Amino acid sequence: MTETTVSSINAASAPFPWQGAQWAQLSRGFTAKKLAHAYLLCGSEGLGKSLFADSFARYALCLNPIAQSAVNANTQLSVACGSCSNCLKGGAGNHPDILAIELEEGSKNIKIDQIRRLSEFVIRSSHSGGAKVAIIQDAHLLNANAANALLKTLEEPNDDTHVFLVSDHPGRLVATIRSRCQKLAFPVPRADIAAAWLQEIIGEGNVNALLEASDMRPLIALQLAEGDSLAARAQFLQGICDVKTGKKSIQQILPLASKIGESEVLQHFSAFLSKLTKYSLTGIAENEGDPGLENMYSLLVPAKEKLLAQAVAKSLALFYTEVETARKQLASSTNPNPQLIMESILWQWSKLNLR
Ligand SMILES: [Zn+2]
Repeated sequence: MTETTVSSINAASAPFPWQGAQWAQLSRGFTAKKLAHAYLLCGSEGLGKSLFADSFARYALCLNPIAQSAVNANTQLSVACGSCSNCLKGGAGNHPDILAIELEEGSKNIKIDQIRRLSEFVIRSSHSGGAKVAIIQDAHLLNANAANALLKTLEEPNDDTHVFLVSDHPGRLVATIRSRCQKLAFPVPRADIAAAWLQEIIGEGNVNALLEASDMRPLIALQLAEGDSLAARAQFLQGICDVKTGKKSIQQILPLASKIGESEVLQHFSAFLSKLTKYSLTGIAENEGDPGLENMYSLLVPAKEKLLAQAVAKSLALFYTEVETARKQLASSTNPNPQLIMESILWQWSKLNLR
C-alpha cells in the first residue's frame, strides 16, 4: 500500500491515467506552437480537471520535459520534469508566468478585480521568455462584470499566453465566452482504468463499491475511501429502502440526508435509480459486492411480463428526472431549501409503484 491520500494528490499526480488523450492533444498542440489561446476544460467534479490544468501549466514552462508512459495507450506523454527552476517555482505556486484565479474565500463569485489581474497578465511579456498560462477555476462562477471583462481579454489574445477555464457546469458560462474557447471534455473514465488507479492508492478496500458510490469519479471515490461516507451512504440506502417498505417514516431519515448533504444523497439516489431501472427490465443486478444495492434490488422483482416491466421502468425513469431536477435546483445559485427538496423527493419515492 502506498502513502498516497487525497491531500497528497496534487498537480504532480496529473495527468491521471484517464486523461492521456486530453494531455496528448494539448501537448502536441503546444509543441507544434498551435495551442489555442483559450480552452474550456469541462466535465463532472472529481475527475481531476483542475489538477490537469495546473500540471499542464507547469509542463508548458518546464525547461526539460520528460517522457512518461501513458496508461492503456501505446504512447509516451511529455510531462514536466518537476526539478528544473521553473518546475520548482511552479510547484511552490509562485511562478510569475502562471496565474491562478479561483474563488476567494467567503465569496460566491469570481469578481472583476480578479479578471483585471488576468488582463494585465495577458498583455505583459513573459518573465522566463516562454509561454504564460492563466487558469480560471470554477469559471461558471464569474459574475456578470467579470465575464464581460474576460470576454474582452479573450478577444485580444496574446500569442504566448494560454487561458484555461475549468468548469463542472460549463452550461452556466455565457455563450460568448464559451464560443471563444476550445472545448476540452473530460468524460468519466472507463471502469477498469479508474479501478486500477484507486486500487493502487488505497490498497485494501472495496474499490468497486467506492467507484459505484462516486458515479465513477475517481477523486470522489478516494474521498469516500478516506471518510466514513461509504458507511453513511449504506445507512441512507437502507433508510430509503425502509421508507419504501414502511419500516421508517420520511421524517426519520431526513436528518441523515442532511448530515450526509442533500446534494450527495441525491447523487447516490440518481445512480441507484438508473441501476434499478435496468434491473427492472433485464433482471441484471449490477452491485459488485455492494450490500446497499442488494437491499435496493430486493424492493422489486423483475417482471417476467414485458408490459409490466416496462411500466415499472417508466415510473422509475420519470422519478429519475424528478431527482435530476432536484439536483439542479440544489446546485442553482438561487436560495434552494435543501430539506424541502429532499422531503418532496422522498415523498414521491414512497408513492412510487414498483410492483
Ligand atoms: Zn521542469
